[in-house]
Amino acid sequence: MADVKLTGQHWIAGSLAPPREESFRATCAETGAFLEPGYGEATPEQISAACEAASSAFHEYRNVAAEGRARLLETIADEVLAAGDALLDRCHLETALGRDRLMFERQRTVNQARLFAQVVREGHWTEPRLDHADATRQAPDCRSMWLPIGPVAVFGASNFPLAISVVGNDTIAALAAGCSVVVKAHPGHPGTCEILAGCLNRAIRRCALPAGLFSLLHGVSHEVGQSLVQNPRIQAVGFTGSLTGGRALYDAVGRRAQLIPIYAEMGSVNPVFFFPQALRNDRWQPLVAKLVGSITAGCGQMCTQPGLLLGLKQTEWQELRREVQAKVTDQTFTLLHPGIAKAFRQLTAERGAQAISITSMAAAQKTSESDCCVPGVIFEATATELLEHTHWEEEIFGPSTVFVECEEVQQMLAYAQQMKGSLTASIFATDDEIELVRPLLDVLQTKVGRIIFNGFPTGVQVNHAMMHGGPYPAAIGNMTSIGTGSIKRFARPVCFQGFPERLLPETLRDNLSAPTLRMIDGQYQLGSAVI
Ligand code: NAP
Repeated sequence: MADVKLTGQHWIAGSLAPPREESFRATCAETGAFLEPGYGEATPEQISAACEAASSAFHEYRNVAAEGRARLLETIADEVLAAGDALLDRCHLETALGRDRLMFERQRTVNQARLFAQVVREGHWTEPRLDHADATRQAPDCRSMWLPIGPVAVFGASNFPLAISVVGNDTIAALAAGCSVVVKAHPGHPGTCEILAGCLNRAIRRCALPAGLFSLLHGVSHEVGQSLVQNPRIQAVGFTGSLTGGRALYDAVGRRAQLIPIYAEMGSVNPVFFFPQALRNDRWQPLVAKLVGSITAGCGQMCTQPGLLLGLKQTEWQELRREVQAKVTDQTFTLLHPGIAKAFRQLTAERGAQAISITSMAAAQKTSESDCCVPGVIFEATATELLEHTHWEEEIFGPSTVFVECEEVQQMLAYAQQMKGSLTASIFATDDEIELVRPLLDVLQTKVGRIIFNGFPTGVQVNHAMMHGGPYPAAIGNMTSIGTGSIKRFARPVCFQGFPERLLPETLRDNLSAPTLRMIDGQYQLGSAVI
């Protein structure tokens, strides 16, 4: 197993760099005790050194052949597995997410890196287009493809300490595209970040690539992140976290002399619409366990948690609500850190004053066991309240949801028409209700990134078709942050006009040996086969 002794230091281009002074420690989510070692804020000089190193490394790495990049991603996956129990144990201490969930998340992280290695080897993602010169139209020779954008600043979220963190979706997509990366460590799990940084550094060394490809900076104040995105060497930002954080970083990017793309994946309420037949004839019964599982997955700390449930006034809807309420409100949950638990208590108390809220007394009493422990909370509201008060659309990060009772299907449609951008929306309906569903589906296509039929939204797949994003405020930037399509966020198309073959990137030359999908004079070709 790899050496995992924690130092409390930043990693800048393969070397440890001590903080000027300690300013924070991670907290054990289960007991509230502080964990060793102490960490501190990266200084402006350290931020600048990491960005300079990332810039020099980028100019070398961008010319490394696809095979070299793919091997790096596979070596990172191997190193993450080799970190073994030490990684899982520290991560559980910092997050209380539990071994089963963390093993699952580690596998997703490893699979993600390996999947991107395949994508890089195939090279189709670069979308090469060749338009040969045409003297009859006086058209010059033009050839374009997607090329890496430059050093990327990455921010991960507290609730996915492996899959959306130091070696998570953004870092892997950026390295796959050919970019270098500077990660701002999440202050909720700094030890996990440090172990993962070790994995990345070892992989970079083993592949004999420039050390500046990766740096990790710690900090608990927002200043580190703000300065990082304003550093002129940074050319794109990948962020996953709260709306407040994403918006603050977007505004910081807006103050730069050079504007750059920022891709922020934030939270949303992920409405679920139940059409009446979907619940009739006991069809509601098997949905209970699935819905409870989706509301409470990761202790309710999922960006895709179903936070708003809309159904029609009918006996089966009321049965579903009663059963789900009983199961969710009877449990207690250990949240990621005291700050998230405090926000959960505050928001649920505010909402409780505005509508019926249900928490079991037994569960509420148990919550004094730790600062991070909270009960499940269910709210009930009417469609009129939902349509009049926008606060029902604000995410409560934790084990909570709102049952909204509608008088008629038209009210569900009215909500869809006025709802904010969301990561997902789900529709439960039977075949007999297809025509009733159509107008809602039509509206939802303009409001969300992923629409689910007869399923709940948690459990995002890392594949080629995934769209994890959505219109603001669910996200900033109309791209997916999960799945192979996310690679494009860290690249940009460049057109070469009138160039001799020898000066063109190999992918754009006429006789390409690798079978990469290219558009040649308007026709797609794979190798020499026209398709
Ligand atoms: P967070 O508090 O926004 O933290 C995320 C990162 O942003 C941290 O590194 C944080 O570091 C930084 N940050 C926050 N505010 C900042 C500011 N004003 N300026 C500069 N940096 C800032 O979010 P979280 O609590 O970790 O995660 C929970 C949220 O993430 C939920 O809303 C959840 O829905 C969302 N989430 C979304 C997705 C998705 O894919 N859409 C996935 C998972 C989670 P500092 O605080 O040290 O600055």
